[in-house]
Amino acid sequence: MAGVSGVRGVFGESLDPVVITKYASRFGKLCGGGKIVVGRDSRTTGPAVFAAVSSALMSVGCDVIDLGIVATPTVLLAVKHHQASGGIAITASHNPPQWNAMKFIDNDGMFLSAEKAAKFLASVEEAPDWVNWEAIGKLSKDEAAIQRHIQRIMDIPYLNLEKIKNSKFKVVLDSVNGAGGLCSPLLLKALGCEVVEINSEPSGIFAHPAEPLNHNLVQLEEAVLAHDADLGFATDPDVDRLSIVGDHGRCIGEELTVALAELFVLAKHPGDLVVNLSSSMISDYIAEQYGVQVHRTKVGEINVGKKMQELSSPIGGEGNGGVICPPVNYTRDAMAGMALILGLLAERDTKLSALVDELPKYFFAKAKIERSFEDLNKIMSLVPQILQDYALDTQDGIKATRKDHWIHIRKSGTEPIIRVYVESESVQRSHEICDTTIKNLLDRLS
Ligand code: MG
Repeated sequence: MAGVSGVRGVFGESLDPVVITKYASRFGKLCGGGKIVVGRDSRTTGPAVFAAVSSALMSVGCDVIDLGIVATPTVLLAVKHHQASGGIAITASHNPPQWNAMKFIDNDGMFLSAEKAAKFLASVEEAPDWVNWEAIGKLSKDEAAIQRHIQRIMDIPYLNLEKIKNSKFKVVLDSVNGAGGLCSPLLLKALGCEVVEINSEPSGIFAHPAEPLNHNLVQLEEAVLAHDADLGFATDPDVDRLSIVGDHGRCIGEELTVALAELFVLAKHPGDLVVNLSSSMISDYIAEQYGVQVHRTKVGEINVGKKMQELSSPIGGEGNGGVICPPVNYTRDAMAGMALILGLLAERDTKLSALVDELPKYFFAKAKIERSFEDLNKIMSLVPQILQDYALDTQDGIKATRKDHWIHIRKSGTEPIIRVYVESESVQRSHEICDTTIKNLLDRLS
């Protein structure tokens, strides 16, 4: 599957060395040669994918800088550090271990924009221009990328390192045997934490389903209680999404990761927030406390990151646990998120569960409509009629917002379905709104 966010597949089936070579060699051409930084998560297919990627890149004249097993945000930062022409992160993020993927990085240390990605994808069938022995690229290693990344986080100007260190937090860390086991403990120890590591072996054999959703984090919840820890952190295999377990041994929900980061940063740097259209309205609540606005973009970290750059936004991200902290980079970064959450706890001098209790609660409901493609188009055209009393945003499907709830209706890009998302202040109400919306649409269709 090839799209704006990269090329992914099950290794040995839809993703193989031939496919990898095709995309990586074209990417090298698109970058116009020069240095290309490559890093990977811990998947068992990582070394094989890396070998194909680096061979393809060198064979079109690019010099490859190998970071080894690192977080995706570490690859993004290293592209900037080396002033490289581009980068490739070899990771299928939260997908199961049989998957792998290439994510393509621009020379500014952010993923390719939609326009650049489209231009790149349109060119992949062109014949590769292999170079000869004189022009062949070189391969080198950079073993300091993780340490530089950690230092950059420690250098966040408003982070009170002394306060965090003096708090001596006890943290349980679940890296799901992804790349996080090699970097997150180093950061947490540098911040003076006592770290209990679970699933910290970067084996690529994920200890549980790799997406850091509440129902996948039972082991972490139990460990936080068993160790009487202040909190637990869980990351996905490429360490750009962060989920948190409170001192009470319960997941607080990944939507609260960005919210807590916003609480911490806005107190120091008031400025408009940027999140994606599907992120919780908890950001609106927080923005109101600080008298700032919330800007919403299409889903995808590149969209959020670019908007944050444009607005000089101090903090933002994606509701699925993807914190974007500009002093580090305009990309999602779980380790930066950890530092901000610890900063918040240290300064508020309170338990995480107490902090969360002070925040309003919102609940999602999700459903889908399965119909023919023709019916789905008709249904989308009916949406504005049934939601006349709402403020409508059409950047990505239709998002309809009212003061106390929102409904997001979007057609899937790959399957014959429409997804309906609702958020309100109660579980029951969200489900009611979701069901009523779908019923109204289907009634009008017939
Ligand atoms: Mg990820």
